[in-house]
Amino acid sequence: MNNDMQKMEKISLIVPCYNEQESLPLFYKEVQSVLMGMPYDYEIIFVNDGSQDNTLSILKEFAEKNPNVCYLSLSRNFGKEAAMYAGFCNADGDYIAVMDADMQDPPSLLPKMLTILQSGKYDSVASRRVSRTGEPVLRSFFARKFYRIINRISDAEIVDGARDFRLMKREMADAVVQMGEYNRFSKGIFGWVGFRTYWMPYENVERAAGETKWNFWKLFHYAIDGIINFSHAPLHISSWCGMGMTFLSLFLLFAIIIRKLCFGDPVAGWASLICVILFLGGVQLFSIGIMGQYIAKMYLESKHRPHYIISETNHEKIKKIY
Ligand code: UDP
Ligand code: MG
Repeated sequence: MNNDMQKMEKISLIVPCYNEQESLPLFYKEVQSVLMGMPYDYEIIFVNDGSQDNTLSILKEFAEKNPNVCYLSLSRNFGKEAAMYAGFCNADGDYIAVMDADMQDPPSLLPKMLTILQSGKYDSVASRRVSRTGEPVLRSFFARKFYRIINRISDAEIVDGARDFRLMKREMADAVVQMGEYNRFSKGIFGWVGFRTYWMPYENVERAAGETKWNFWKLFHYAIDGIINFSHAPLHISSWCGMGMTFLSLFLLFAIIIRKLCFGDPVAGWASLICVILFLGGVQLFSIGIMGQYIAKMYLESKHRPHYIISETNHEKIKKIY
């Protein structure tokens, strides 16, 4: 069999897009020129995550001109995690990459990433920002703290500065699809499924156009979600606190009884008593709150709702609607 007859390997690019009308043309042009220079078959799966701007019509234009472009348009904004999952469920390449539409994940890194995969030593190449230039100072500070905490308390390795930008082999992508949980935290999922990952450092690139969809509170919630999805540490901490308190109060009770028996002192100080009661009440509520967070996640999981709903697509065989 000569080389031409051999089936070319295929790269699938998954690109979640939410209100990206400004960056999409730039992104598409750049990605096209990178992919054209590579000896691979390719598909670009744009997932329109319920954008309110012209994202969908721009994607349709791309698809009309290029049969390798596929768009999945979700029926509303389901969030980046769901959009990526929609892409994973419908990508059938030998290599699968996830990248943002805003050029913060430079398409020019793709050839280098592929070369690393083909060396056979790794199953996935992930990108890690070594700088956070252009990011607000407070956001960087909390991001660093978050990574330190989550790595101490979780069994999935979550690398500081890791972006969702990754190229992986089919096997790993299949594993990611298998992780069908509703509460998705990709950084944790990629770590949890394992496989040999090469971390490629690169300098942070600022958004090419449009604006970020994340504000501080959204990121804060995302961080809390990450911790709850990949660690039971908060539950352990609250039970250890409870146990500590119980022993402490038993000890104090014992001390008071002894004091009463030996010295006959009347028990003084209701102010301190109130403080202790309030403190314990606080700890209890806090612990119940932590439990509540886990129960809420269980509740959502147990409903088995679809991760996403596709309302429009040019994909000839949608494998999984949700
Ligand atoms: N995105 C999405 N759904 C959302 C929010 C974001 O599909 O609800 C996409 C967005 O279009 C972009 C990527 O996720 O391609 C990353 O978003 P953004 O650049 O706002 O995040 P940042 O780079 O600031 O972390
Ligand atoms: Mg971005």
